[in-house]
Amino acid sequence: MIPPMVVPRVGIGTDVHAYAPGRPCWVAGLQWPGEVGLAGHSDGDVAAHAACDALLSAAGLGDLGATFGTDRPEWAGASGAELLAETARLVRAAGFEVGNVSIQVVGVAPRIGSRRDEAQRVLSYAVGAPVTVAGTTTDGLGLTGRGEGLAGLAVALVHPLAGTG
Ligand code: MG
Repeated sequence: MIPPMVVPRVGIGTDVHAYAPGRPCWVAGLQWPGEVGLAGHSDGDVAAHAACDALLSAAGLGDLGATFGTDRPEWAGASGAELLAETARLVRAAGFEVGNVSIQVVGVAPRIGSRRDEAQRVLSYAVGAPVTVAGTTTDGLGLTGRGEGLAGLAVALVHPLAGTG
């Protein structure tokens, strides 16, 4: 008899924040000295936030707003990497193991490629699974091309643990 197949699940996440001069710049779990920061109640880390949404979606746990919203005020000031670590904990508590997370940062600055290895180390440590980070631009088009803001896109793969799913 063929054993039942354990089917992995994917999730998608997207986040956008506007540039906010005067704020420290946090992207992909790193602070970027000399770069313009991003607006928002949080640190504005679009890469980490997109990764959180991708993981939550893959595990069927809703989204970032529902998970770290007003009923969990202790997370209001958390960094992107802290949110990502807690998200990974919730995903495992729901009966999944994380396969990997792939993030793409879309915009003119900061240039992710200049610190890719460092970003991947920080985010992979937070998740406890491989996280890769890429960067791209939009040829001057749209909010990211005009330099109004930065976008993060992510997909995550999770595996239901044996006996669950
Ligand atoms: Mg965000």
